[in-house]
Amino acid sequence: MTGNADIYHEIIIDYSRNPANFGKIENHDVTFHDSNPLCGDSIDIDMKIDDNKVTDIKFHGNGCAICMACTSVLTEITKGKSLDDVRKIEKHDILSELGLEHLQAVRIKCALLSLKVLKSALYTYLADHMDDSQGVDKLKEEASSLY
Ligand SMILES: [Zn+2]
Repeated sequence: MTGNADIYHEIIIDYSRNPANFGKIENHDVTFHDSNPLCGDSIDIDMKIDDNKVTDIKFHGNGCAICMACTSVLTEITKGKSLDDVRKIEKHDILSELGLEHLQAVRIKCALLSLKVLKSALYTYLADHMDDSQGVDKLKEEASSLY
């Protein structure tokens, strides 16, 4: 399937040159930063949350083409979703958009840094807005088990 691989490759290059939802939200409700030292990817995700829905999401930072493309796709998937639906986003949802299901283990962290940052941001927000401390611990576990 060389043809498909070429198309995906072009999509990834396009996103890395013109990332979607790139920038900052000055009056964000939550922001989170993390990095992947193996490659040098480093991103921040800002979210605006209203009525348990992600009304706006932007990211900034530096990353390789895979990191930038995956973060772009993830912000596009997340925007407008309810927090419950954001919790359900899985790595497959991003990887399949870009034809990266068979990515080498070394590069998988480039692809999934975005998801880790997004989930950590979500858990940070929920922890601030939840009374139940057991629930918060569970959320943190979920975030740290992503990779
Ligand atoms: Zn990378």
